Amino acid sequence: MSTTTDIAFQKCVFPACGATYGVDEVRVRCDSCGGLLDISYDWDRLQVPPNLAWFEQKWTRRHEPLPFSGVWRFHELLPFAPPESVVTIGEGQTLLKSSPQVGRYVGQRKGELYLQYEGMNPSGSFKDNGMSAAFTHARSIGATKAACASTGNTSASLALYCSVTQSMKAIIFVGSGKIAYGKLSQALDYGALTVQIAGDFDDAMQRVREVSSRLGIYLVNSVNPFRLEGQKTIIYRILEGLQWQVPDWIAVPGGNLGNSSAFGKALMELHEIGLIPRMPRLAVINAQGADTLYQLHEVQGVRWNQAEPPLDDIEAFFHEMDAQQRRASTIASAIEINRPVNLTKCLRALEACDGVVRQVSDQEILDAKAQVGAGGLGCEPASAASVAGVKKLIAEGVIGRDERVVCILTGHQLKDPTATVAYHTTDQELFNDVLASRGVRRATYANRAVAVPNDLDEIIKAIQLYR
Ligand SMILES: *Cc1c(COP(=O)(O)O)cnc(C)c1O
Ligand SMILES: [Zn+2]
Repeated sequence: MSTTTDIAFQKCVFPACGATYGVDEVRVRCDSCGGLLDISYDWDRLQVPPNLAWFEQKWTRRHEPLPFSGVWRFHELLPFAPPESVVTIGEGQTLLKSSPQVGRYVGQRKGELYLQYEGMNPSGSFKDNGMSAAFTHARSIGATKAACASTGNTSASLALYCSVTQSMKAIIFVGSGKIAYGKLSQALDYGALTVQIAGDFDDAMQRVREVSSRLGIYLVNSVNPFRLEGQKTIIYRILEGLQWQVPDWIAVPGGNLGNSSAFGKALMELHEIGLIPRMPRLAVINAQGADTLYQLHEVQGVRWNQAEPPLDDIEAFFHEMDAQQRRASTIASAIEINRPVNLTKCLRALEACDGVVRQVSDQEILDAKAQVGAGGLGCEPASAASVAGVKKLIAEGVIGRDERVVCILTGHQLKDPTATVAYHTTDQELFNDVLASRGVRRATYANRAVAVPNDLDEIIKAIQLYR
């Protein structure tokens, strides 16, 4: 067996259980207690880089696939597979961009607002970071089919990895009518088997778990702990973009809570092995129409509680949600999730990073999205939740006006053109249909198209009116 198997292993998130499994096993939960699994490393026996700047030497080897990848140039921090078995398609070529304009919008004083633009990934969302890691694991254990339930971006990513590598067949489960066209078009174009379930994401998630365990299909949802290893690298790239300085805050939209969980793990590990001197704070932002984490963490005060979270209270919350038939509903379809599979890991991340959770309305999300677009980097609705959340936290005084804040833009602007066009439209019917039905009252920052007759003088007049 490879030498990495003994220094990397799967481990139950609950230390009181402490069960471990080999990295050559395929599981999405702990056999003995049902908890989520982490990929753990025996750092003492690994060659840990002396400092983060050590990674800069990889920049001169960009012609090689691993140093080129924004995930695998940090291989030493996710060493669960030997270099020769890594699957990479060049993911993680992302951008950390300071945006004074968005900084002003959220109420900052000194323009220390950064946007981490994950829309630059090959399939247009951060999901590629995780897919590269999950694919690496899937191929090393000989899987031939991979499946996921998806609000769209996981399926686009899986379908892309399958089509580029030609090494597996993709099967994707989507809730009917719940997927933005940009994302659905990718899955179809890349040739994935696409199964539309009459139901929402939470239904599709439950079914894909059943189907994959029955048919032995490799599951790439974020319950897969290998995926989160790849998503840790978003944190490394943020630090890289800040010349290895730790920001004060990192804000991320929360759906299934894989990203926030991965961020917490990345930061805990960096701190543990002495590569960062302090922890940033974490802000996880829910949509108001899909606010399970907000309700549990902020309203009910549910905490990780040093690895003893009140699982009964959490279960009771979901029981009541089902009894009342509460369903997630938001324009931010990527976070339209009521039953986040990584909830306990996210609670751990919030504890480690002294984190907070907020919820923002679809109105706040779309206004923030228009400001992000006008500020230089377009994003999809879910991504803008991070910016809307920071605006709220600055107004509350939780985030200081002079603090250094990084907002994760999780997905590309072109993922959901319907939401963007409906916001900027002059067509009242379209606005009502897509947005007013969700409680969005006005498009505060709309940039309306100007209708002119096909006449040169009229066209020139219209342009001269533009200031
Ligand atoms: C998947 C996704 C999210 C939610 O991330 P989680 O890890 O599920 O919390 C947010 N934004 C976009 C664009 C996504 O694709
Ligand atoms: Zn366990």
